[in-house]
Amino acid sequence: MSYRCDACGNKTRFDIFETKRIRAFHHYSLGGELEVEEEEVLDSNVERVVCRWCGSSDSISRGAGSAGPQEQRRGASESADSG
Ligand SMILES: [Zn+2]
Repeated sequence: MSYRCDACGNKTRFDIFETKRIRAFHHYSLGGELEVEEEEVLDSNVERVVCRWCGSSDSISRGAGSAGPQEQRRGASESADSG
């Protein structure tokens, strides 16, 4: 999964807000030190992707890098800056 910010062209730095349900094998040593030895993602849902460069979350395109159908979704909400 890769992302691209259409607002500034950033393709490498994003904040991903993701909810994950996982099963993890927690292996504690006798000293009480935790080591996660196995992790299985049961469910994951990316709620929001925010560009680290310009802070935009509305202009993020999701793509695998290969040629594919381009989807452009325009929301009705507009962010108005006053100040
Ligand atoms: Zn950006």
